[in-house]
Amino acid sequence: MATSRAPLPFTEAVSATVAQSTRSGFFFDFDGTIAPIMRDPAAVFPVPGAVERLRVLAELVGRVAIVSARPAAFLCERLAGVPRLGLFGLYGMQSVVDGRVRTEAEAGAWAPVIARVAADAARELPGEVLVEDKALMVALHYRSSPSARGAVERWASAKAAELGLREQYGRMVVELRPPVEGDKGTLVARETEALTRAWYFGDDLSDGRAFDALRGREERDPAFLGIRVAVANGETGDELARLADFTIDAPEHTPAMLDHVIRAFRATPYAG
Ligand SMILES: [Mg+2]
Repeated sequence: MATSRAPLPFTEAVSATVAQSTRSGFFFDFDGTIAPIMRDPAAVFPVPGAVERLRVLAELVGRVAIVSARPAAFLCERLAGVPRLGLFGLYGMQSVVDGRVRTEAEAGAWAPVIARVAADAARELPGEVLVEDKALMVALHYRSSPSARGAVERWASAKAAELGLREQYGRMVVELRPPVEGDKGTLVARETEALTRAWYFGDDLSDGRAFDALRGREERDPAFLGIRVAVANGETGDELARLADFTIDAPEHTPAMLDHVIRAFRATPYAG
């Protein structure tokens, strides 16, 4: 990860954003950022107030989007009813365009291989490991049995080597995904091209790539401001927090932080 510049004062970040609202964007990871982490990934919903803040923000700034490892269809379900909200699933392998999930063709070709890996994982890994088949990605969750971590990582590494897949480590999870280019960093770099202000909220290792993308753009373009917000947790340590401008204690506190931003917009006449 890139080294960090000095963190920006919050009020400065907010006023710089309000001053260029139409060219500002807010990007959010989902799990651990606007939703709690739970043992059963299927049971997760956004924290209270998150959807409402996204709706308001989407009316105030040029771009608001979710950048997640979840399938795009899941994001659609959980965040239905927020107009103008960009949804990117499976690290950008999927996006939602006009209400329909679009999958990158290159990634789609790997579906049979991923299906085989999911079946192998269910058969070969310890029963406490939750195998989540995301169609184009398999997530191996060991949250219910942290001691299985070594076995899961070894199994995933061997499968990745055997089949040419890519590994992604996260909070109590290892994911196997197609070896196609692209991650949260390349996605955020692309989606912020037309913006002069971009905020990214994340909690996990893969979000560090998005932080790096904002930092890289700042280095190339002094007019650009990338504001990095880490949501703290005991699992990724402070690696992400060290690179962040701001840290939020838990996903439940993300709406309150957004309220500060929203209030600043409302207090500024003719924000544009
Ligand atoms: Mg996350």
